[in-house]
Amino acid sequence: MSVSQNNELLGKTKEELRELCVSLGEPAYRGEQIYRALYAERKFDLEQVTNLPAALRERLSHGAGIRLPEVKKRFQSVDGAIRYLFELGPNEKDKTRAASVEAVFMPSEGRQTICASTQAGCAVNCQFCLTAQLGLIRNLSPGEILAQILIALEENKDTLVPHTNIVFMGQGEPLLNYDAVLTACRILQDPNGVGIPAKRVTISTSGIVPGIERLATESERPKLAISLNASNDAQRDALMPINRKYPLAALLGACRKYPLRSWEFLMFEYVMLGGINDTLADAKRVVKLLAGLKCKVNLIPWNPGDLPYRESSEEAIAEFQELLIDRGIVTFVRRSRGRDVMAACGQLALLNDTPIEKSSSNLITL
Ligand code: SF4
Repeated sequence: MSVSQNNELLGKTKEELRELCVSLGEPAYRGEQIYRALYAERKFDLEQVTNLPAALRERLSHGAGIRLPEVKKRFQSVDGAIRYLFELGPNEKDKTRAASVEAVFMPSEGRQTICASTQAGCAVNCQFCLTAQLGLIRNLSPGEILAQILIALEENKDTLVPHTNIVFMGQGEPLLNYDAVLTACRILQDPNGVGIPAKRVTISTSGIVPGIERLATESERPKLAISLNASNDAQRDALMPINRKYPLAALLGACRKYPLRSWEFLMFEYVMLGGINDTLADAKRVVKLLAGLKCKVNLIPWNPGDLPYRESSEEAIAEFQELLIDRGIVTFVRRSRGRDVMAACGQLALLNDTPIEKSSSNLITL
């Protein structure tokens, strides 16, 4: 039997690759060899997979393939972060059109963190986020999600340190592309796949309650972060229109039912917007909202973009953090990487130049 056209190997699970090999009259373990080559060894050319018989490589090359996104541009930040601009081709099989997405590679002491996109653009329309201005262009396939990570790892392989963190905080709302994201996560977390433990993979959601409830039922799942960003419904409705569909009571209700593993905390992200959500009254309301939850909070100084907001003062951030810590909530200030190349949180909008000033405050704590 021949391989059907447009049979993309990257993104296929172990079972799918086994089935593909069996359909070609090959032993199933050949599928596992391809799986290992793709994800553990990052071999992106079938000719490099030399433990496959040459005849099978030849047959696979007629129809199946490993089609990596093109790296259209790399933006190097003064702080070491690299923003990748990827061009994704159209996928005839899935009838999807070409699109561009971004990922960010952030090296730091003892680990590297890769922030990857799960959709091209985003439909959620958070008012403080530049990605929202793109609207939703399309969902990414598991292969397109994994490719961002594999390419960033491969390009930086000479300087990699043992630990890699993956955060799905790039373009898109991961829980609105649930199946593809979870497939990618399973391959990431598989010791025979990319081999990144669940403790080091995080999905960040704007608060898609049915997605959180579904994730709660998964036996293999990454960690969960929730983008909170407001201390009451009126504020959140204005900043994150998704709150009108899933208001705080529903969101925090789903969080309270979420079955945390012994080592796990829910992470609440809170973008600090000057004069909007950064007062001590806000901090007190956040403490009430999170009461009883096993959680941590990341305060994220807003990263400037062409939007009608301003950064919170250092004093406001420090006082907010202090109040939460005083009330028993572990709270960090997460300063984004790569601000100068539009690689920081909320800045991913396919920009081709670097329109903002370089900031000396880009210290890191991802
Ligand atoms: S913050 Fe995330 S969910 Fe909200 S618009 Fe931006 S990419 Fe979408």
